[in-house]
Amino acid sequence: MSLIVQKFGGTSVADAEKIRVAARRAIRAQQEGHQVVMVVSAMGHQTDYLVDLARQITDDPSAREMDMLLSTGEQVSVALMAMAIHSLGAEAVSLTGGQIGIRTDSSHTKARIKSISTDRMKKLLENGKIVIAAGFQGIDEDFNITTLGRGGSDTTAVALAAVLNADACEIYTDVDGVFTTDPRLVAEARKMDRVSHDEILELASLGAGVMHSRSIEFGKKFNVPIHVRNSASFSDEPGTVIGAESESANRAVTGAALTKNEAQITIARVPDHPGTSLAIFSKLAEVNVAVDMIVQNPGADGSADIMFTVLEDDLPKTLAAVKKGAVELGAETVLHDASVSKVSIVGLGMATQTGVADRMFRALADEGINIEAITTSEIKVSVLVNRDQALAALRAVHSEFELDRPPRDRRAYGEVSKVGGKASPLDIVARLQRMEDLAIESVSLDQSQAQMTLFDVPDRPGVSATIFEAIAAENILVDMIVQSIGRDDLADVSFTVPRAEMEHARHILHRLATELGGEVRVEPAVAILSVKGIGIRSHTGVGLRMFKALAETGINVDMVSTSEIRVNVVVEANQGEAGLAALKSAFADVLG
Ligand code: ASP
Ligand code: MG
Repeated sequence: MSLIVQKFGGTSVADAEKIRVAARRAIRAQQEGHQVVMVVSAMGHQTDYLVDLARQITDDPSAREMDMLLSTGEQVSVALMAMAIHSLGAEAVSLTGGQIGIRTDSSHTKARIKSISTDRMKKLLENGKIVIAAGFQGIDEDFNITTLGRGGSDTTAVALAAVLNADACEIYTDVDGVFTTDPRLVAEARKMDRVSHDEILELASLGAGVMHSRSIEFGKKFNVPIHVRNSASFSDEPGTVIGAESESANRAVTGAALTKNEAQITIARVPDHPGTSLAIFSKLAEVNVAVDMIVQNPGADGSADIMFTVLEDDLPKTLAAVKKGAVELGAETVLHDASVSKVSIVGLGMATQTGVADRMFRALADEGINIEAITTSEIKVSVLVNRDQALAALRAVHSEFELDRPPRDRRAYGEVSKVGGKASPLDIVARLQRMEDLAIESVSLDQSQAQMTLFDVPDRPGVSATIFEAIAAENILVDMIVQSIGRDDLADVSFTVPRAEMEHARHILHRLATELGGEVRVEPAVAILSVKGIGIRSHTGVGLRMFKALAETGINVDMVSTSEIRVNVVVEANQGEAGLAALKSAFADVLG
């Protein structure tokens, strides 16, 4: 018999009528022959209301009591949902997180799931009951109630789908699905029929904000396709399936996103030797600041500029922490800019296609938008721009990649609306434990690349476009691109290309240097070390662990770029093997 998990968000259970609509949907699924587990959020804005109530009592509520309070929202909605189902003549039982046996760690208000027991749910399902699970909550070892962080019901739903080996996980919400970009910002945004876990992970943290990131990490780790759809649609209008595959096999770019309120910090002229990144980022970890983009390119004179971004709200904390560290390291100065935004394009296809980044850069140049910094991963290009040009930048890239139009080779729905491949019993046992631990898929070494740098090019619109158009015109596949914030109206642009293309690329750069100004440096033998995995974003400290392992091995980091699913560093070629060994042992406990 097939099993379906249906999750209803706050807006989908906001009042009695909506609860009845959701109840009918679950009953219908049951009548169609499925076992049904519902996961329900608190009604409407109930959680916000509870947070506000706590604030009226104290500025500093205890986290344990906060969880005690917030978990009540979901307890109300599961009970009402059960009553609604009863009144419609079907059988249902509501359960709290604790009653199901969702065990979490004890980090109140942001707890992580450790294990889930399925016995009780299975027994109820076999007896023909609809199981209604309270989202967002669990209990720790001492039976304290915990919550998973705001928006955490998504994570409950996907986690239950994973441990129950569900055939489908449907997320009912108040939007039609996942869009190519935020439709409130770009009217032409289009609902995608499907999108891959990796793409949505990159997009989610980039500001698309569709689902709790941790739920997507679960989906990916346990191969659970997630169907996001509108609870208000009466017909069975399909939404967006988040699965292993992307909507199109050929499209390079599938979505674009904007993170508006970023702040940029540059630590200028740091002596370039092992351990500098570690020193800086461990200071930030101490004060609990999550670092977003990290960009480091090789310096011209043995010193490096390290640039990174944080959310604007974290800027004061960040500066306080970093300034001390920078002085200790002997850096020249710390610069910052609190008026920047990050615009990114994401797509599985860009890993294998040339001429993607340069199109983005050209689209921005055509709008007269200067790129302040660039970082890339295999499936993402992010640029930092001035905040007052951010919206124009997002619109420009959305239209450049024709995201408003469905791809010609769009994969149809029917092919994906079911969970691929059933997990083995052993697999399921593994799923029941250590659910949300960081999982590193691979630590790898790539010695096929050469590093190219163009120092001191003018920092003005169109320069990056010119550089990468020239490279793309010759069909050279660029891997990492890194550009730090320019100083004195000059910027440094670095990237890597296959070693076989190095002379070819050098030639192009020399020509560009005569046209644009600047100086070329080629590092023929570099090694790229990558750590790739699930939870890189939500488990802060992956980058830190990497920097630490490398610093302890005496390895200098030349270039860094980060994303949600991967951290890349470039080191000297002859240190590649030692670096790989150091990273493998540093991540041994979480390497899958
Ligand atoms: N009710 C919780 C919140 O508002 C959990 C959820 O809705 O997913 O954050
Ligand atoms: Mg919610």
